[in-house]
Amino acid sequence: MKPTCSVEKVLDKNGKEVVVCDETRSKLLPILEEVQAKKGYISDKDMQEIADRLKIHPVEVYSVITFYSFLSSEKKGKHMIRVSNCMPNEMAGGQNVLKAFEKALKIKAGQTTKNGKFTLKTTGCIGMCDSSPAIMLDAALIGGVTPALIKRIVKEPEKVIKEVVSRQSSVVRKEIGRKGQVIFSAIQPSAGLKKALELGRSGVLDAVRDSNLKGRGGAGFPTGVKWNLAATAHADKKFVVCNADEGEPGTFKDRVLLTEYPGLLLEGMAIAGFAIGAEAGFLYLRGEYGSFLPMLEKKLEEMRKEGVLGRNITGKKGFNFDIEIRLGAGAYICGEETALIESLEGNRGEPRNRPPFPVNTGFEGYPTIVNNVETFVAVPHIVAKGAEWFKSIGTERSSGSKLLSISGDCKRPGVYEVPFGTSIKEILKLAAGEDAKAVQVGGASGTCVTRGEFGRKIAFEDFPTGGSVIVFGKKRKMLDAAENFLKFFEEEHCGQCTPCREGVPVLLEGIRMLKKGECSSDYLKDLLSLSETMQCASKCGLGQSAPNAFLSIIENFSSEYELSNKKTKEQVFNG
Ligand code: SF4
Repeated sequence: MKPTCSVEKVLDKNGKEVVVCDETRSKLLPILEEVQAKKGYISDKDMQEIADRLKIHPVEVYSVITFYSFLSSEKKGKHMIRVSNCMPNEMAGGQNVLKAFEKALKIKAGQTTKNGKFTLKTTGCIGMCDSSPAIMLDAALIGGVTPALIKRIVKEPEKVIKEVVSRQSSVVRKEIGRKGQVIFSAIQPSAGLKKALELGRSGVLDAVRDSNLKGRGGAGFPTGVKWNLAATAHADKKFVVCNADEGEPGTFKDRVLLTEYPGLLLEGMAIAGFAIGAEAGFLYLRGEYGSFLPMLEKKLEEMRKEGVLGRNITGKKGFNFDIEIRLGAGAYICGEETALIESLEGNRGEPRNRPPFPVNTGFEGYPTIVNNVETFVAVPHIVAKGAEWFKSIGTERSSGSKLLSISGDCKRPGVYEVPFGTSIKEILKLAAGEDAKAVQVGGASGTCVTRGEFGRKIAFEDFPTGGSVIVFGKKRKMLDAAENFLKFFEEEHCGQCTPCREGVPVLLEGIRMLKKGECSSDYLKDLLSLSETMQCASKCGLGQSAPNAFLSIIENFSSEYELSNKKTKEQVFNG
């Protein structure tokens, strides 16, 4: 995976040419990120040169740049301030932070100061909802933003960045509210890998299948089935991909795993490589977590030196596996596995049609397994401690535990590991949010749960979730929440298919009409019908789930709006 060519005019601190790529299309995104980082934008000349090097048309380069929010073809300020506008951040005063920056910099969001020092933008969730209000200053994640800190950022941004980077651990809060029985349980480094070698490939595949481990991203596809399909596929090469692109509003658990347990994650990927017969893996790290890159690269290097990554791992001849980290560039949709693979290949992160599935036709057409961070971290535990141990935790149909990122109106936001089967009521007690009037389970694409349903449980058979839990206190207006989630989808959809691209803005307009009392019962019925169409006809999970929060909020919180023609809402919901 060593780079072999250079892109001219990308210079290091000493003015030396920097080697950034080999000449394959799949390196387009890293090349663009490198140019963006060095020059602050990607000029027409750079586009042409990159296109020539990769033997593609400059329009393709341009189309990729315009897809990712962290790339730009226009000159921006020396420092980029991104203020998160995700729901928990808004609840914690994110709008005030934005206004304070606008006032201090004398610009509006989206603009650059006259002296070219700052560009101010809003952005979706940056994975810091446990310490909202939060911002990104260049690559630095900064939580608990105060008026005093805003003043300092405007006055001495370099100094603030330096401080943040030097005390990363205290700035990026690692608030582990509860250590549970699986992910945070004790395990020796490499214990899973050593056991995997004892068990052999088929033994590992059996252990993962028998454990009933399901993907922790929310969809819950059985990991053992996925791995078996890839293991039995005939191909010259296979790939293991870790989806570290958590972007669902209100989710930050992978941030904690990446910073606290990187060794377990990389070990889980190596075990997967051994099981399916892959020699290469990618860790696709969300652009918002770019500041973790040096730490993760260091960990990879340590593991290579220890002989648990690289060639002939732990001395076993022929067991070769190494990992390359690829950085995302600010596109929520790349959390969808086929969009992620497109992004790895250097394309716009647009979801593919399925079938074929990645286990047969994944990265560059080869069998590829994609699992998320939490899933890979669970693997060494399962292999070392056994499938029966894992199945003894959780419920019959949902084995093991779930990490939850809890934020919003609760006294103890943070990451909590709970066994599957834990009720929402119990979760609220843990996080000290018992007074909640509602809980959004699963982020913007999830469901809004009312007090009457707090007895329901986190489990694949009841409330499946990727882990986002946003608590809403009594004073919150739920239509504001629905509007925030739809605005997020309007910003983040890829625009490929009509139901999602056209449907999201219509629902957003609908919620605004409802807020103003301008929506009639007939129009609300149309919106319900549109939601159903989106759920059925959208190409990927984003469009299929975009109406979920809208539907649950307008049905469960009908007391919070009036219809323009004074018809009763029961007439709408009961046909
Ligand atoms: Fe893109 Fe939305 Fe269609 Fe998914 S559903 S492919 S995000 S337009």
